[in-house]
Amino acid sequence: MQNIRKIAVLTSGGDAPGMNPCIRAVVRTAIYNNKEVIGVRQGYQGLIDNNTYPMHTRSVSNILALGGTILKTARCLEFRTDEGQEKAYRNLKAQEVDAMVVIGGDGTFTGALRFSRRYPDIAVIGVPGTIDNDLYGSDYTLGFDTATNTVIEAIDKIRDTADSHDRLFFIEVMGRDSGCIALRAGIAGGAEAIMLPETETGIEDLINKLESSPNKSSSIVIVAEGEHHGGAYDIAKIVKDRIKSYHTKVTILGHLQRGGSPSSFDRILGSRLGYAAVNALLQGESQKMVGLRGNAIKLTSLEEALSQHEFKLEDDLMEMTNILSI
Ligand code: ATP
Repeated sequence: MQNIRKIAVLTSGGDAPGMNPCIRAVVRTAIYNNKEVIGVRQGYQGLIDNNTYPMHTRSVSNILALGGTILKTARCLEFRTDEGQEKAYRNLKAQEVDAMVVIGGDGTFTGALRFSRRYPDIAVIGVPGTIDNDLYGSDYTLGFDTATNTVIEAIDKIRDTADSHDRLFFIEVMGRDSGCIALRAGIAGGAEAIMLPETETGIEDLINKLESSPNKSSSIVIVAEGEHHGGAYDIAKIVKDRIKSYHTKVTILGHLQRGGSPSSFDRILGSRLGYAAVNALLQGESQKMVGLRGNAIKLTSLEEALSQHEFKLEDDLMEMTNILSI
């Protein structure tokens, strides 16, 4: 088994609340085990530019409550090339780094797996950090819970104004390929209908649903941005063209869903996954993702995490939502 002495930690792809608690856990678990840690700024770009700094227990003081990532993140095209990966490897070797914890989504893991196959002498463990909750091998990803809570807060506020004016609101939430935020926030916010990328809700079904509850003073439809009709504005227009009497309004929540102090769930998840990532490295693991399955930490190979697709929208939740919003 490779003896780990120095661990690099980075965040990559879209930022997600919970990344900071995870960085904190990685740094402190490593130092507790007498390992050195360097922080890499701006994801894979920082590896290529050698933009790193030594981290100590006090480097991560008071960051549990911070959204975003203190290490910054980036989308780095150069890391997709062999030359970029080689630069990153040479920089890591020059600093005598022998292990990495990468926190990010499927793109981040794809890059990490490719890098680790080329350069297996640097062990790599991935932590699922993306608000979309779209990774196989973990029931939850970092940031999903906080983002969902943010959306619920917005729905509650919009409900106040929708109710006062008898309006139909379409609220678009993040999720190009994943309807997890839309479904959970829609249930918790009492949405009348939820439109997801994974399911084919027809316009007829939507209109039937809205018309079957005529005495409601307001209605809210949650639309995930990847929904196949094209987004909240497009759906609102189709509905308005069909039923002229509706007063329709559209709100796109956008990037505010990424921000904010991590929820208790994301702080605990980040702490657990960061701690588990370092322990996995110390046990000689590599090319794996640490995840949460039924409240237990589980390792999944990066290859499996990337090749499998998990449908996290349980049918009974969709059925329940339809019944509870009558
Ligand atoms: P999110 O789910 O929030 O979008 P992500 O990790 O999927 O997060 P991406 O931008 O897709 O975000 O990927 C992050 C980075 O991973 C990319 O900017 C790139 O540097 C690296 N990466 C992605 N795909 C590859 C690849 N095929 N080879 C090498 N590196 C890659």
